[in-house]
Parts: sequence; C-alpha cells; structure tokens
Amino acid sequence: MHEDALKLHDLWRKDLARDKLLEESRGLKARIADRTAAVEDATKKLSSATDNLARLKGKERDANRKAETYTKRRDTAQRSIDQGLATDYEAAEGQVRQCSEILDEVETQQLELMEAVESGTETLERCTMTLALNKSQVIAAQKAYDDRYPSLKKDFDAATQIRDSARADIWKDLVQRYDELRKKRRPAFADIRNDSCTGCNVKVNATDLSTHRRAAELVTCRQCGRLLGEFL
Ligand SMILES: [Zn+2]
Repeated sequence: MHEDALKLHDLWRKDLARDKLLEESRGLKARIADRTAAVEDATKKLSSATDNLARLKGKERDANRKAETYTKRRDTAQRSIDQGLATDYEAAEGQVRQCSEILDEVETQQLELMEAVESGTETLERCTMTLALNKSQVIAAQKAYDDRYPSLKKDFDAATQIRDSARADIWKDLVQRYDELRKKRRPAFADIRNDSCTGCNVKVNATDLSTHRRAAELVTCRQCGRLLGEFL
C-alpha cells in the first residue's frame, strides 16, 4: 500500500476517535435538550389539566347549587300541599312536578360531572407525576454532562492536537481530497476485496489494481471516490 494511503488512514482513525468524542458530547447535550422539551410539554399539559379540572369543579358546584334550589322549591310546594296551605293546589302540584323533572336532569348531570371530575383528577395526578419525572431527568442529564465534561474536553483537546499533527504530516492537496471525501461520505476509505471496492462493490480495473499492488500511488475508486487499500 502506498505510504500516503497509510498516512491518510492513520489520520482517518484519529479523526474517527475525535468524532466519537464529539458525538458523545452532542449526545449528552441532546439528552438535556430532549428532556427540557419534555418538561415544557408536561408543564403545558399540567396547566391544561388544572384548568380543565377547575372548569369541571365549577360546573359541579353550579349543578349542586341548582339541585339545592330546586329541592327546596319542590319541598316547599309539597309542604304547602301536605299542610293544606296551598292557595292554588293545582299550581303547587305543577311546581312539584316541574321541580322533580328538573332535579332528575340535574342528578344525571351531577353523576356525569362526578365521573368527569374523578377522571380529571386522575389526569392531573398523572401530569404532575410526568412533570416531576421529566424534571428529574433534566437534572440527571445535566449532571451526566457536567460530570463527563471536564474529561471529555480534555480528551477532545488531546484528540484534536493528535489529529492536527497527523494532518500537518500529509501533503496539503491530499488532505484536501481527504476532507472532501469525508464531507461526502463516511468512511472515506474502502478495502479492495475480490478485486472490488468494498464501498460500492464495483470492480476495480486492472490498471488501478496494479498501481495499488505496486504501491506506486494512492488509488481512488472510480465509482464512489473512496480511497482504496486493505485498511479495514
Ligand atoms: Zn467504490
């Protein structure tokens, strides 16, 4: 294999080591961002669950008041009938009937509201728990980042230095070509196996194979552009 290929491959391994640290840092930050977004989401849901429950409880109070009012009205009318005090007997009976009908309706509403309040309370509890969990996850994610950051930074700086000195040791045009390849595809290298590029599976032509075997110069796959060698 050509000397340049070996150097580039060495650079590539150093870049990968550095990338891995970068990935790790990004992953830790992404976890914080993800959990922070979850807290925001859970806060909104909790707020809407709180509003919903308050609204249901308000309706429940209204229904209870209505029931109280019509119960009183019905009982008063009934009493006036029972005690023979009703001035208009038929009107009093009509009122008892009307109040009873309304009370039937209100009772149905009360039952429905009771169920809704119960379910609203459960939702509120669930939202409260989710929010607490998400908040603790943000703290844990931040701690994981803070704990890892000093050594990660140190490792990354060291990896950058090692990578940079490897770059400085390679002909500039070649580094540029390598950079372009890295930008386009990962990895920038492929093996030659059964006379084919392992990156794209296309046969490497006889001239290139011969150049490669003689280590005369660095060979690039004519199909995918990867740098070829027995690297992997
Ligand atoms: Zn290829």
